[in-house]
Amino acid sequence: MIPIQLLRKVSVFQGLTDEQLERIAGLCREETHSAGSLILKEGEPAEELHILREGRVTLEMGIRMWPERRVRQMSVESLNAGQPFGLSALTESDIWTMSARALDNCRLIVLQGRDLLYLMESDRAMGCEINRGLSNVLAERLRYARLGLTEYLGHRQVAREQTPEESTAIRRIQYGINFRWIAIIGVVLITATANMVFGIHFSTLPIFIIASVIGLYNLAFWRYTERLESAEAPNLIPQVRRYVWVQSAADLVATTAIVHFAGGVENPLFLYYVFHVILASIILPYRSAYLLATLAVGLFTTLVGLEYLQVIPHVHLQGLVPPDLYLQTPYVVAILFGFGTTLYISTYLTTAVAGELRKRQRETAALHDRLLLEAKELQRANEELVRLDKLKTYFLAMASHDLKTPLAAVQSYLQVLLGGFVGELEDEHRRMLERCSIRIQELFDLINRFLDLAQIEKGKVVEGMGVISVQELLNSCAEEVRVLATERSQELRTDIPAELPSVYGSPDHLKQAVTNLLSNGIKYTSNGGTITLCARELGDYIEIEVCDNGIGIDPEDLPHLFEQFYRGKGGETAHGAGLGLSIVKRIVEAHQGQIWAESPYADGKPGARFAFTLPKGKPAGLKIFGD
Ligand code: ADP
Repeated sequence: MIPIQLLRKVSVFQGLTDEQLERIAGLCREETHSAGSLILKEGEPAEELHILREGRVTLEMGIRMWPERRVRQMSVESLNAGQPFGLSALTESDIWTMSARALDNCRLIVLQGRDLLYLMESDRAMGCEINRGLSNVLAERLRYARLGLTEYLGHRQVAREQTPEESTAIRRIQYGINFRWIAIIGVVLITATANMVFGIHFSTLPIFIIASVIGLYNLAFWRYTERLESAEAPNLIPQVRRYVWVQSAADLVATTAIVHFAGGVENPLFLYYVFHVILASIILPYRSAYLLATLAVGLFTTLVGLEYLQVIPHVHLQGLVPPDLYLQTPYVVAILFGFGTTLYISTYLTTAVAGELRKRQRETAALHDRLLLEAKELQRANEELVRLDKLKTYFLAMASHDLKTPLAAVQSYLQVLLGGFVGELEDEHRRMLERCSIRIQELFDLINRFLDLAQIEKGKVVEGMGVISVQELLNSCAEEVRVLATERSQELRTDIPAELPSVYGSPDHLKQAVTNLLSNGIKYTSNGGTITLCARELGDYIEIEVCDNGIGIDPEDLPHLFEQFYRGKGGETAHGAGLGLSIVKRIVEAHQGQIWAESPYADGKPGARFAFTLPKGKPAGLKIFGD
């Protein structure tokens, strides 16, 4: 049979009595699964509840992000020992289950859902406890599933998103395509106007044919750009650049053809080559841009040269320039020189500006990625903090119940023994039992301090605040510790003016803070010493101080006194856990005051002085429950 100690650790069975656990254990059997095997398959009805005894199991779910996409397996949660799965065995059997896969070789405790349900129905109290545990597990699992999904979608978005550089490049290609449509209309209009309005005669048909060819390839480019835009390729830039190169080369060839049929060197619009070169230089790297400028210069020079050498026929623009202009060497050379320099200078200027812009874009993208990563890390750290906080709450609950209850029982038995209720004790035995009792009391005090600290952190100080008289508070603190001082023949002096204004605070916590300082004063001062408690008005504050002429504090201990668990060198002479002063500090700060320590104080007097301030009246910005 499965030992009930094991079942007690299972989250859904917590809070059940031994007898109830024994009844559940009677239903359980053990199973083992090797690493990688599928224990439960998604969609199949789960009839058995599984509890992981050893190893790790991952819960998986198939998720289809978009209607036409394939289903992807997503890990919802990774389970450790003590966690249950196959919970749908306790619901209608057709409710969807998640897949469960063994990550290591696993040992499982398995029980029929039906049998457990029957037990839960026959013992309603037990049913309630188990249901409570189940809802906690389900809530937690839902939270994990939500986190997993968010992260998954986040990654997807990042993967799909084009880098700023890529999307800018694609946008520019689109500008280029739009510009080409305008250019085609422009070519047609200019040709028609020159021919019909200005009476410049040349054959227009070849130009219209070339314009149509440009229109066709622009259509093809337009379709291809749309495909490129939705591409999920990891790095689009080289593809985009090749594509721009092809487009620009096609444009240059088409422009050369138009220039040839529209008068060659006679036509001043040959300068339109510049537009192509500028557009390409914006997207292409330096080398490709210069190569393209060279191609443009080469094409135009070849055209003009071939016409000049009369290898190919020259189209004359009748009515615009003299017919032999294309044969006049100085004119042709001047045009080619002007053309070449214009193209190279334009390329130089454009690539310089575009290169700088690209660099900035890359830097921004890198910064964006880094921020995204940092945000993720912060989120993870935050989740870890939440987990630790839960652990702390659990520990505190455990400390207050599981630790204090047995201690109280032991202490009361010791008191019964020491009180002689079960017979007279030998002196030696009595001394031993008394020492036990003292140790138990110290342990009690330590646990109480832990709990105090947690309560203060949770804002409990602020909850119990009201108007209090400082004089009454301090006098009652002094009376509380007077016995301790008298036991050590110490003098406890007080100097508390009657006319001190009241403060706004939590009486219990302030009392705790002052008695803590006084007890420390008594603890760290040798027999016969003096401890003084004073209070005075100091501007908007009241200053409360506890001085002693005891052992004092080492200079290197001073900056750390208020840290949790810090014990100074003087601490070696007395018992303690190093929590007292950190509690006092938190109480004072919750009242918007300040605390500090000095040693030696006032003209090198030996001993220590602890002082803290409290604002008079209700401090601004203090939020009280119910305010
Ligand atoms: P504990 O007294 O339990 O060690 P505290 O937080 O109250 O923890 O004090 C921290 C340390 O500060 C002590 O270990 C001790 O070294 C030093 N200390 C506190 N009060 C005094 C005092 N009045 N005189 C000298 N040392 C002190």
